[in-house]
Amino acid sequence: MSTSPSVAVLGTGAVGAMTLWRLAARGARAVGFDTYAPGHDRGASGGESRIFRTAYKEGAHYVPLLRESRLLWTELERAGGTRLLHLVGGVTVGAADDPVVRAVQESGVDVEVLSGREAARRVPEHPLAEGEVLVLDREAGYLRPEAAVLTAVDEAQRHGAELRCRTRVSAVEPDGAGVLVTTGAGTERFDAAVVTPGAWARQLLPHLPVQARRITSAWFPRRDAELFDPGRCPIAIRVGAHAFSCFPALDGFGVKVNAHGGGWPPVESPESLPRSAEPELLARLHAAVTATLPGLRPDPVRVATYADGFTPDGHGLLGPLTGNLVLATGFSGHGFKLAPVFGDIAADLVLSGGTRRAIAPLSPHRF
Ligand SMILES: Cc1cc2nc3c(=O)[nH]c(=O)nc-3n(C[C@H](O)[C@H](O)[C@H](O)COP(=O)(O)OP(=O)(O)OC[C@H]3O[C@@H](n4cnc5c(N)ncnc54)[C@H](O)[C@@H]3O)c2cc1C
Repeated sequence: MSTSPSVAVLGTGAVGAMTLWRLAARGARAVGFDTYAPGHDRGASGGESRIFRTAYKEGAHYVPLLRESRLLWTELERAGGTRLLHLVGGVTVGAADDPVVRAVQESGVDVEVLSGREAARRVPEHPLAEGEVLVLDREAGYLRPEAAVLTAVDEAQRHGAELRCRTRVSAVEPDGAGVLVTTGAGTERFDAAVVTPGAWARQLLPHLPVQARRITSAWFPRRDAELFDPGRCPIAIRVGAHAFSCFPALDGFGVKVNAHGGGWPPVESPESLPRSAEPELLARLHAAVTATLPGLRPDPVRVATYADGFTPDGHGLLGPLTGNLVLATGFSGHGFKLAPVFGDIAADLVLSGGTRRAIAPLSPHRF
């Protein structure tokens, strides 16, 4: 491939925006396409906050990628002059013998296990029941997703990338040594394309094993203004009967809680995403907050749903698909924290034809 190849990035959500940034910063003539505009709330990258954590229950093989991603988050913050990653720490809360609690401890990251008075003193937001512990990952915290996507796109543009908002790609296909990209404005040839459509993956490439599913977030008012301070309170993942993830009060008022454990319901298309939650989910959240988060009022003041693309095994699809088409999608509800390193890997694959990073477990051809 020439020293300055033309590369289309199809979708500028978290992964596409980071890919655009990494490609442009590394000298490619990158063009980003999106049906909407960066930072929008229809896909997987809206809703004010995302968890960053390093003691990864999903597999110790992610740890080197997470550490590289953290460095790239810092690089993006410096380049854009915007704070995106707040490393306030993260706790996994649950029974000491819970398999997830154990997996976090076995991730190879130096964690601290807290219980009793010490846990209550250091993390008063999450009181423990008998037999429960907190596993503290110091290399964890929260990210600001909308600002992250916008900063990456700004940086990409600063390096010469082009952005085409409100431009839906209707088809992408290999064409000899290049790729054809079709939009309402016609068909254009690029040297390569990175396909980053998130939950819309099957609308673009119907054979992909990616299902659109929705995740609901609800914001609960604090009872006590001392608790859930965004400068100090860790993010939390509670496992067991009342499973959820939970953030500090980033707007100074409401604490965002995502219900886990009930499975993520499929959606026909992210365009048909309901803007509120079903009563059963709200009842589950009410019960979880009542039972485990006494610092919050149990009735949410805000509810929102978002769509992500899920694969059958819960791990993303990252790698060459066919010809000069690279796939980076299906990150199954946990891809945000890794988006910068995934974008850099996509740039490796396009610009060098390979990567030094270990991505075999994410191969698009594994199903
Ligand atoms: C509510 C929720 C909470 C989550 N919490 C966390 C968390 O705490 N930590 C974490 O690491 N991960 C988390 N995740 C997962 C993470 O946010 C996603 O894996 C990640 O944002 C996926 O980014 P993406 O770029 O693949 O998708 P998106 O951000 O949805 O981007 C896809 C983009 O492609 C565009 N597009 C699609 N089709 C086309 C087309 N044909 N033409 C042009 N443009 C197109 C869309 O408009 C969209 O902008 C969460 C996800 C959700 C939904």
